[in-house]
Amino acid sequence: MAKKSVRTKPTTAKARRATNGVGMQEPQDGYQRIDKFEPEGVERISAHYDDILEAIGEDPKREGLLRTPERVAKSLQYLTHGYDLDPAAILRKALFKEDYSQMVLVKDIEVYSLCEHHLLPFFGKAHVAYIPNGRITGLSKIPRVVDAFARRLQVQERLTNEIRDCIHDTLKPLGVAVVIEASHLCMQMRGIQKQNSVTTTSAFTGIFLDDPRTREEFIKLISAKLH
Ligand SMILES: [Zn+2]
Repeated sequence: MAKKSVRTKPTTAKARRATNGVGMQEPQDGYQRIDKFEPEGVERISAHYDDILEAIGEDPKREGLLRTPERVAKSLQYLTHGYDLDPAAILRKALFKEDYSQMVLVKDIEVYSLCEHHLLPFFGKAHVAYIPNGRITGLSKIPRVVDAFARRLQVQERLTNEIRDCIHDTLKPLGVAVVIEASHLCMQMRGIQKQNSVTTTSAFTGIFLDDPRTREEFIKLISAKLH
């Protein structure tokens, strides 16, 4: 399989955030919450939103909109904080030698991302499985890897592949399977207004590609309503 390396884009914004010491706090419960913002970036983004509000026919000086550019800027920084995360490092932090060689499946992982074409949200569920080859990772790390890639400007297809490749390259398992089901607001709110459509993408490596029975077992497990 052609493998592409995981995209960890060294943006200038990222560099700035890093030098300002702004970024992730160690998670308390497997998830991270960002309360800090990179002030220079907030200012820069805010300045543009004054213009944007005017351009759509609004009055940026109207009371309800006075702090909107700043709020949007902070929100955007949060929604793209995945650029500050190294998903492979998240996995490597919790690698354990283990003889288990059955399927490990984490299903119904919430996904929130931004489509890079319209900067509108797409959201849904990810189901991720791998078959260990001597090592496993902490279960909570899988949703964090999903989040680290989702909190960037994305297309669903690339998001699916990046999660697969990161787990494949880092854990070197016998196989990886990723399925994402998502609704795209750029489809639902605008354009063709297909309000109930869900887009499904999938990506496999190793035994999930080579052995139809393993792939079928995965599909059966993610389709089951057992929790
Ligand atoms: Zn879109």
